[in-house]
Amino acid sequence: MNPGAGEAPRTAAVAVDIAAAATDRLFDYWIPPEWIGRLRPGWRVRVPFGRSWREGFVIELRREPSVPPERVRPIAAVLDPVPALTPEALELARWCAHAYGTTLVQALRVMLPAGLRGDRIRRRTEEMLAPGPAFPSPEQEAEHAAAPARRRVLELLRRSPGPWRRRELERAAGVSAATLRAMVRAGLLAVERRALERSPWSEPAEADRRPPLTPAQERAVQAVREAVESGSPAVFLLQGVTGSGKTEVYLRALEAVLAAGRQAIVLVPEIALTPQTVARFRARFGDRVAVFHSGLGDGERYDEWWRVRRGEADLVVGARSAVFAPCRRLGLIVVDEEQEASYKQEETPRYHARSVALERARRAGCPVLLGSATPALESLAEAQRGRYRLLRLPERVGGRPLPAAEAVDMRRELAEGNRSLFSRRLAEALDEVLARREQAVLLLNRRGFHTFVLCRECGHVLRCPKCAVSLAYHADQALLRCHYCGWAERPPSRCPACGGSALGYHGSGTQRVEEELARRWPAARVLRMDADSTVRKGSHEAIYRRFLRGEADVLVGTQMVAKGWDVGGVTLVGVVNADTALNLPDFRAAERTFQLLTQAAGRAGRGERPGRVLIQSYAPEHYAIQAALRMDPEAFARVELPIRRELGYPPFRRLVRLLVLASSPEEAERVARAAAGELARRLPAGARLVGPSEAPLGRLKGQARWHLLLSGERVGPLRDAALEAAARAGREAAGARLAVDVDPLSLL
Ligand code: ADP
Ligand code: ZN
Repeated sequence: MNPGAGEAPRTAAVAVDIAAAATDRLFDYWIPPEWIGRLRPGWRVRVPFGRSWREGFVIELRREPSVPPERVRPIAAVLDPVPALTPEALELARWCAHAYGTTLVQALRVMLPAGLRGDRIRRRTEEMLAPGPAFPSPEQEAEHAAAPARRRVLELLRRSPGPWRRRELERAAGVSAATLRAMVRAGLLAVERRALERSPWSEPAEADRRPPLTPAQERAVQAVREAVESGSPAVFLLQGVTGSGKTEVYLRALEAVLAAGRQAIVLVPEIALTPQTVARFRARFGDRVAVFHSGLGDGERYDEWWRVRRGEADLVVGARSAVFAPCRRLGLIVVDEEQEASYKQEETPRYHARSVALERARRAGCPVLLGSATPALESLAEAQRGRYRLLRLPERVGGRPLPAAEAVDMRRELAEGNRSLFSRRLAEALDEVLARREQAVLLLNRRGFHTFVLCRECGHVLRCPKCAVSLAYHADQALLRCHYCGWAERPPSRCPACGGSALGYHGSGTQRVEEELARRWPAARVLRMDADSTVRKGSHEAIYRRFLRGEADVLVGTQMVAKGWDVGGVTLVGVVNADTALNLPDFRAAERTFQLLTQAAGRAGRGERPGRVLIQSYAPEHYAIQAALRMDPEAFARVELPIRRELGYPPFRRLVRLLVLASSPEEAERVARAAAGELARRLPAGARLVGPSEAPLGRLKGQARWHLLLSGERVGPLRDAALEAAARAGREAAGARLAVDVDPLSLL
């Protein structure tokens, strides 16, 4: 029953999943006779490759092999009952590879769950590390004078024996995977297999509340619903202040999608992918929801993926890579908090999930709904140009007022003799909140206790030996730590540069805020949330839940506390220092500051009682801070857009960055200059080349970094020129790595 099988193609061109996918080659294999006429592109296969077995994807069928037939080997097995990749998915992978300048295999890798990439699926259990049989007492350890890295692990485990996940232990102790492996071999650590925790959203769905819509919500839902029903590839930008009911708009639009028999993807930032968020989708749609987040084990991810592929789940809620979910009847893509930087992947392929969503929806003929209280300037500009349809939710639901926000000038505090972290206004506001038994959130976007250590005699600042950044002092472990690579060391008693003994500790982080709170308000119950206090799985959620239940009066934290939360008891939001990000050497510094402050302010007054926001700054007149006080993205854009236009930055021009990593700064500079030379020869018309220069973060994890920035009207020619220049310069630079970043978000 294979009409025409005689003439059907006999060979398959396969993208083989090899680790170093430097080439974009496809390899030819014979199709097994019983599969001739049946095998199609997108099917996963097992093939011989060199002397090993590999998995790969059939990309094309070929009547005859493109290499001499004696060199072609047969496909060993066709995996899966249906092709894992639909023709649309393959096309999207091709687009992604082209748009971001990667190989097809690199693009496919990010689209698929680990279990579909030949990695062994670890199901239901995972490896944990705990103290081993040879775990020493502190006295024994002193005798053996253990290496500093080992000692950090031992000390950490003594305080908190775990069991720990490998990654988390590496990060918390600031050691390498190799160190941990060696410690396992030495019996200092033991490996335990432990059943995976049940995923937090396997709890029963909570009861659904389906409130009648406000008129503004109704208008927004109506517009999206029409586009869903007519299959229009329109893009909507839903701009609504925090608490204006954006999520309810998503839910209603999704109802329309499911009613039309189609599937939808909802992207949320990883940090917002809490059970609280997911519960709202599950409450409305039950088991039709599939969830993708980083806490899933490979097995669970694999199962969810197939549930969507088979069409058993209609609604995908997930972080960045969920934009590739295998939906076949796509009716809508929602991107919540569309301005979030975490939608951009900072490694190959350096894709932006919002851009992929727009492209995917365009191909599928379905609308995209971007939502935010503080849209990215790129999106706002598209709305102003009329390419996106702006939908506004100008008010909070239930007539709740926006919090009253004011800036506090810290220059004046200092001039009047207040050297504390807290201005008098913030201190009084805290007094009142505590007296009324309400809750406060304090934001300081820096972790640790002190942010740098300076020698008062020679001016030397203690830096990470592997990164060009200052080390922060962490009081809880009495360690100096690098926030980029995890390096940790004991603070020296003398300056390593001049031998002087006057080392001063400066700059404040969240730990210092926590300590000062304890000193000045000893009765207040304080929780801290930052990358240090949330190392262990589920701790972010646990802290949040405790705060939600009113087990603490004050929550201190980094940007983690600014995002996506709905805690009704919070009546005060204090920003301890609004200037932390303002002075970074990045043209998006003002935009990021505006967004962070506005989101933080949005945490206040979401319950019955009105909220108040105090923003402490040494530059309170700055337009990013002024616009944040009014929570007004358009006011911010009115000042920022002309600056961007003047400087030739997005959203007026597109950028492509070429980053060079090498073991020495000389080598990085040499290769960057070579790349610049190549680029100068093939610069597209109207394009501008800036650099080469040392990247602001000139050293990271032991690698010297140089970069070049291209800007132009259209991104394609820039990308192609950069890829070509990188390939040419890379040929004479064996030790260097060149990366091309299309539409870079970070320029550090
Ligand atoms: P946003 O996503 O804009 O921050 P949410 O969608 O989380 O806002 O809404 C804030 C709160 O208001 C939620 O508790 C939600 O259940 C509630 N809510 C949303 N829409 C309505 C409505 N039309 N009537 C009453 N309550 C609503
Ligand atoms: Zn470092």
